[in-house]
Amino acid sequence: MYNLVIFGPPGAGKGTQSEKIIEKYKLAHISTGDMFRMHISNDTDLGKKVKQILADGLLVPDSITIEMLEEEVKSKPDVKGFIFDGFPRTVPQAEALDKFLEDKGLKINLVLQLDVNQDVIKERIAERQKISGRADDDADKLVKRIDEYFSKTIHVLPYYQSQDKVTKVNGIGKIDDIFEQISAAIDSTI
Ligand code: ADP
Repeated sequence: MYNLVIFGPPGAGKGTQSEKIIEKYKLAHISTGDMFRMHISNDTDLGKKVKQILADGLLVPDSITIEMLEEEVKSKPDVKGFIFDGFPRTVPQAEALDKFLEDKGLKINLVLQLDVNQDVIKERIAERQKISGRADDDADKLVKRIDEYFSKTIHVLPYYQSQDKVTKVNGIGKIDDIFEQISAAIDSTI
């Protein structure tokens, strides 16, 4: 099994590049953001719990997120591997994921860091909001999400760097050019 983490701030292009990776490498996509939004639109118990947290642009508590992620992985035993998009977002989540995979004799093979500066993020999300209508794409909520990224999520990078798993890719440029760099990184670790 080949497991990949796609990492970067909100608006880095994780979802866009994930779609291309899935198509080429046939990995199963796990986006915790998409999963939470699905629970919210289906009004499940979990959805009720996290609705306000997402709307505020804050991170969902680790315990809830980790449990949901592990259930999703367990429900797909026959896949070639996973692409984790939006997870892990905290060091405890990264540690939990390592332990969970290790217990199954698996590991994270590569962490792809999509590098994008803050000005570009803000522009992209302002554009996206016109189409997505996502409440957390509002400018004031976006500030919160970027705060959460720089206070909690950024620490996930040194965690994986110390395991020598991170490849940084410039996230600014043409979608296909970025994907070419991503493919090269995957091909050299697969
Ligand atoms: P973004 O475009 O900001 O990367 P996502 O769609 O990945 O957004 O996530 C949207 C929201 O879902 C986050 O702001 C957060 O509230 C919640 N969320 C997603 N993944 C996680 C996670 N791993 N840990 C905690 N909260 C999460």
